[in-house]
Amino acid sequence: MRFSIATLARAILGPPPKLVCSSATWREGAAELNRRTGGHRESGAFLLGLRQGETRQIVSFLYYDDVDPTCFRHGIVEFDGRKLGQVWRVCQDRGLMVVADIHVHPAGYGQSGSDKANPMIAEAGHIALILPNYATGAPAPGAIGIFEYRGNRQWLDHSRQGRRIFKLSWW
Ligand SMILES: [Zn+2]
Repeated sequence: MRFSIATLARAILGPPPKLVCSSATWREGAAELNRRTGGHRESGAFLLGLRQGETRQIVSFLYYDDVDPTCFRHGIVEFDGRKLGQVWRVCQDRGLMVVADIHVHPAGYGQSGSDKANPMIAEAGHIALILPNYATGAPAPGAIGIFEYRGNRQWLDHSRQGRRIFKLSWW
């Protein structure tokens, strides 16, 4: 029996990750999210990047409060959907797309009822990340929430397989 290199690689390495990010971009973004919490409220960002096949690469963070300054008025994410047009314009200007979103919780990384009911991008396949402990120490996949929207308020929880789903790399 003959196998293609791609089939062989897939058999050895498993399916490609859904999400990748350079370690430097990740650490910098998580540190900024941590700073923006001030230790007493949530923070968050759209993750802009590129898509190659099934894998999305995070290139930069677009912080919610830079687009909607009142987003954290009540301490939790309440992004004004009317501001999404600005997000699409930034994407268009930079030749990027929204590949995921991220927000920070004070303690654990589980989804709240509000997180489940209000996907930032209500599109099947969209990925929402949650960093615990105000993003202190830039927690990595395996120790963060990774949730994939399936439509109709249903989510897949990939958090436990985090390191297979979301890879940080050195480039
Ligand atoms: Zn939340």
